[in-house]
Amino acid sequence: MSEQTTLNRALFDEVMVPNYNPAAIVPVRGEGSRVWDQTGRDFIDFAGGIAVSCLGHCHPAMVNALTQQGQKLWHLSNVFTNEPALKLAQTLVDHTFAERVYFANSGAEANEAALKLARRVALERFDETKDQIIAFKQGFHGRTFFTVTVGGQAAYSDGFGPKPGAIDHLPFNDVASLKEAFSERTCAVMIEPMQGEGGIIPASDEFLQAVRDLCNQHNALLIFDEVQTGAGRTGHLYAYQKYGIVPDILTSAKGLGGGFPIAAMLTTAEIAKHLKVGTHGSTYGGNPLACAVAQSVLDVITTPDVLPAVEAKSQRFRDGLAAINAKYHVFSEVRGMGLLLGAALNADYQGRARDFLVAAAEHGTMCLVAGANVVRFTPSLVISDQEIDEGLARFEKAVAQVVAG
Ligand SMILES: *Cc1c(COP(=O)(O)O)cnc(C)c1O
Repeated sequence: MSEQTTLNRALFDEVMVPNYNPAAIVPVRGEGSRVWDQTGRDFIDFAGGIAVSCLGHCHPAMVNALTQQGQKLWHLSNVFTNEPALKLAQTLVDHTFAERVYFANSGAEANEAALKLARRVALERFDETKDQIIAFKQGFHGRTFFTVTVGGQAAYSDGFGPKPGAIDHLPFNDVASLKEAFSERTCAVMIEPMQGEGGIIPASDEFLQAVRDLCNQHNALLIFDEVQTGAGRTGHLYAYQKYGIVPDILTSAKGLGGGFPIAAMLTTAEIAKHLKVGTHGSTYGGNPLACAVAQSVLDVITTPDVLPAVEAKSQRFRDGLAAINAKYHVFSEVRGMGLLLGAALNADYQGRARDFLVAAAEHGTMCLVAGANVVRFTPSLVISDQEIDEGLARFEKAVAQVVAG
């Protein structure tokens, strides 16, 4: 038997922990916004590995960075620093509000570092009574026990015993409840400028400004979780730049490595100084291979033609989805920013987002869901117009199939 016939979806259930339920197809190769499975079938990728593959698959600049660095030096640990990490930190500092960078390997780890740092700052500047972390319902911040508890879905954090404490969840975009919850006890607010997993819900300008103002008034730190919205996803390098509201701490992952695991926590020098030698760390954080790949991603994203083109691609998606909706009447709205878009299902299709995802895959388009009622699109930032059109044409057939029952 060939390996392809034995390395299949059925084997997953025999050798893997059952916490995922992957699709039946097994992709083996990707190029740009196209992916091929074991049988040679092709798919247009509007999922991008959940907002990760921001330059598509096997982008030449990334392949080059990976192979070049792969022949030089893979790993050292933080007993030594390394050139790719220094260069990447410098690039992030040059392009953002940040003055200091901490590297990790995943969004959850970057958020874990941000939350630990915020608690540390409150403890050292004030005292142990300043411990409240404010977060939002439907928010998502990762799966470590601290971050999943800060996330706004109790279902994800229940069932693992005692949780980290002093975490309050408020309704998103509700200024009144925010004002009520704040006090001198407030240590930090962790917020996604646009909720991703929670359903592609942008924060209103008014709400983010209120969060910023209240943090200032109460000496609390504002943490923007830009794990999903960062690395150019909204058409700006980071979404805070689009809002014009600057956080104290920002976390980045997903698109930062474009498919190679890396994350970063960005902050100011004043805040960073509380993370003294020995207070926090990671074996792989700032790994030269990961940093070299992330550098190539940022080098491409920050070239003059990439981010300005995102808005036109976004509009092409919205127009295409609007045309599909005019025929089939399945969405109540298409929302989001840049190439982080959500098509919310109308009353007739509540709870059926996954049906659209499954049908899309059958017709050769990969997309995502964000909760049970939103079909999510997070394609490559450099996807071609032709690929958008072809993927949407396939998606239309999927919609027709769902509508037909
Ligand atoms: C995906 C995501 C995370 C978690 O990132 P991991 O790399 O899976 O740990 C955290 N926050 C947001 C907003 C995300 O979208």
